[in-house]
Amino acid sequence: MRREPPTRMPTRVVATLVVAILVAAASTSCAPEPPPPNVVLISLDTLRADHVGAYGYPKETTPNLDRFAEAGIVFLNNYAQAPNTAPSHTSILASLYASVASVWAHGGVLDPNVPMLAETFKEAGFATAAFVQLPSATYERGFDVYTGLSHGASFRRRAESTMDSVREWVSAQTEQPFFLFLHTYAVHLPYSPSEELAEKFDPDYEGPLSNNLRGTLIDQINDGEIEITAADLNHIIAMYDAEIAELDQDLGALFDWFEQNGLLENTVFAVIADHGEEFGEHGIVAKHTYSLHQELIHTPLILFGGGIPSGLRVELPTRNVDVAPTLLRLANIETPAHYQGADLRPVWEGTERRPRVVLAEKRDYKVFLEGGFKYYTDGRLYDLENDPLERENLIEARPEMARRFEELAAAWQVELDRLSMSIAQGGEIRLSPEEVRRLKALGYLQ
Ligand SMILES: [Zn+2]
Repeated sequence: MRREPPTRMPTRVVATLVVAILVAAASTSCAPEPPPPNVVLISLDTLRADHVGAYGYPKETTPNLDRFAEAGIVFLNNYAQAPNTAPSHTSILASLYASVASVWAHGGVLDPNVPMLAETFKEAGFATAAFVQLPSATYERGFDVYTGLSHGASFRRRAESTMDSVREWVSAQTEQPFFLFLHTYAVHLPYSPSEELAEKFDPDYEGPLSNNLRGTLIDQINDGEIEITAADLNHIIAMYDAEIAELDQDLGALFDWFEQNGLLENTVFAVIADHGEEFGEHGIVAKHTYSLHQELIHTPLILFGGGIPSGLRVELPTRNVDVAPTLLRLANIETPAHYQGADLRPVWEGTERRPRVVLAEKRDYKVFLEGGFKYYTDGRLYDLENDPLERENLIEARPEMARRFEELAAAWQVELDRLSMSIAQGGEIRLSPEEVRRLKALGYLQ
């Protein structure tokens, strides 16, 4: 379905403000604009930030990704907005929180009036292609070429198998810049790395588990039908790590191909994940979706390539909703009206020093992260600096902080409800100066 023009978007006034800010920023320069770079967005489903070398993981899971990350920006405290694939990808590809997009699981469809990232690139004259394993029709919007892989037999596929198609498509884009979206379930269950990598990551294991860990076995473990030892758990983690290493080889080959063909300097790469994976930190093994603990929402965000400064490591918190506006700004494209994230350039350039509020959601509760603390709207509060595993609930011990977070959550809820209603009704929102101030305070407008 063809979407309505952007001027008909419900959150038009928010857009007007954003546009005004962008126009003001753009008008300071009269130099001719350089041609926009190509943009490649790579979503590595289920990859925890803390299992990536660039994020301090001691095992050699990602030597290739680390190599390119060193020549770019590593956002050390990046967060996914949901612990499962569908809402998280909506937050990435439409810059909307799940409660506004009303997408909580596969099958959820975003309102067709809300433009997806690919539609915005296409409208700006970019060629667009997606090579993904995402099943939802929502994500197809705006792509000239959309190669989606269905669940079932092809659910687990090496990323390598799509790389030939990627190279072929990229080679054909000689007339216009392109936006390419890649997504892979390569490190998602089942964990079935090559023998060589399985051996490398767990050479001494002698327990009963094989190197091919399937969902049914993992379910039996989580249901308590199969008990596992510490060595078994380590083996499960090692097979996950081996999968990451295998994916990293495929990524390295792709990045090298771009470099060897002279495409790296005019292509921006963003490498992200939609959520992490649990390994017994809170009782569940090799799964996601079921909580908003750190192991599920702390995800990598790495930028490198054309125009991206080299060797930066950003400590300030960032969010997957910020990815789409950042990529559009890097390509000199105006940000759509409804975006709830904001361009990250001021963060890495150091002009924005105030930390952004991080919000992640499940259908029945949310978490807010600010100032090193994490607040759950179902009544939990953790000091992440001293208690990274979220063991000691401080909701009673820190009443003032709890109240502050309650107020923050209540104010956000008002705005989330308002935006979701406006999308559902197709109406327009008028903002008073006071509301603008409040939106800024909440991090909606930077
Ligand atoms: Zn996922």
